[in-house]
Amino acid sequence: MVLERGEVANSWRRERWDSLRLLTPNWQSRLPGYRYEGADPDGFMTMSEVVSFISRFAVVTDAPVRTHTTVTSVKPTAEGYHVATDHGDLRCRCVVLASGACNLPSVPALVQAVPSSVESFAALDYRNPKQLPEGGVLIVGASATGVQLADEIRRSGRAVTISVGEHVRLPRMYRGRDVLWWMDAAGVWNQRYDEIDDLTRARKLPSPQLVGTPERTTLDLNALGAAGVEIVGRLATVRNGHALFSGGLRNQFALADLKMDRLLDTFDDWARAGTHAVDVGPPERFEPTRVPVSSRLDLDLTTGEIRSIVWATGFRPDYRWLDVPVLDRKGHLRHDGGVVDAPGLYAIGLPVLRRRKSTFIHGAEDDARDLIDHLAGYLARTGPR
Ligand SMILES: Cc1cc2nc3c(=O)[nH]c(=O)nc-3n(C[C@H](O)[C@H](O)[C@H](O)COP(=O)(O)OP(=O)(O)OC[C@H]3O[C@@H](n4cnc5c(N)ncnc54)[C@H](O)[C@@H]3O)c2cc1C
Repeated sequence: MVLERGEVANSWRRERWDSLRLLTPNWQSRLPGYRYEGADPDGFMTMSEVVSFISRFAVVTDAPVRTHTTVTSVKPTAEGYHVATDHGDLRCRCVVLASGACNLPSVPALVQAVPSSVESFAALDYRNPKQLPEGGVLIVGASATGVQLADEIRRSGRAVTISVGEHVRLPRMYRGRDVLWWMDAAGVWNQRYDEIDDLTRARKLPSPQLVGTPERTTLDLNALGAAGVEIVGRLATVRNGHALFSGGLRNQFALADLKMDRLLDTFDDWARAGTHAVDVGPPERFEPTRVPVSSRLDLDLTTGEIRSIVWATGFRPDYRWLDVPVLDRKGHLRHDGGVVDAPGLYAIGLPVLRRRKSTFIHGAEDDARDLIDHLAGYLARTGPR
């Protein structure tokens, strides 16, 4: 039984901004035994298209979904788990935590020091630029969400400043193909969690600076700078009404450029190995990220120049209803590739759960198969109760 507090595809219906499109191309939208079969495999779905895609999957698989049912607690029992919901209780042998990785905004505590004249918006609550008060906007965070919102808000005519920390730069297209095609072809997506040197770091890696548009545009910091977005360093603190930024932009940019080039080297190596039969263009390298001539280290938030801050500082899962001692000191779930540290408890849909691609919709395909094998083995081993 699948318990869902809202409707099928709830996160895509309720927790995304209006203009969002997937940054993964349509051909990559796959769920177990189900894939995009429309006329535009290289396009990027709008939110209503994602909702239709996932809702249809629920219909064709005849998934036993109980909607509008919120799980309020999961507790271990001698037989398995006791699941309390706002529509009655259930008992079961196994529970799969598929409640998402992005339920809550990760907003730094320094939000408390922002003057009350400046309105704060978490990316989960942002819908469109009209929602923001007139005037300048500071966007904190320059991963997929931050760069997309900076671009949209700048296009609406606002002055936009974006605060940039560690980020992952990617071109949309490389050697004539979508960069995510290259990730697939060169085997990057399929890299397993137990083959990654620093798994903790891989799981914390920010999302790539990518946007899905019909024009297949690259949305890196050079593009934002050219559009008139002011780029400043990482937000270090807010003191006496001033936002103070770190100075190391040159280093941040050099690191992101270096990592991008290393990834492109991996693609080039794969292409050179010649084990494929596809046409790709010649190798390319991109202009390094342009360092602003001078970047502000101090932004006075009390002058009225900045009227709102959008916190594009990431998301985290919400396990407040999970009454099983499986969270570490930092509130992260203790699991080995989705097999949680408690008998009969599993997780899916978390960053780099079993493979690099686990972070994305299409990651569920292989992860679900592996976890179901484990779960079926567990049920067979422990016998009927
Ligand atoms: C802004 C943004 C953009 C993204 N863009 C892409 C993209 O372009 N391509 C891509 O492949 N992936 C993208 N992702 C990642 C994508 O969201 C995940 O890969 C995918 O949603 C994982 O699906 P899921 O079902 O595990 O989690 P979710 O989609 O988060 O679904 C979890 C479900 O659990 C329900 N739930 C939570 N708590 C409870 C409870 N206590 N009781 C009952 N129900 C509960 C929620 O209502 C929700 O419907 C994006 C994520 C974000 C945040």
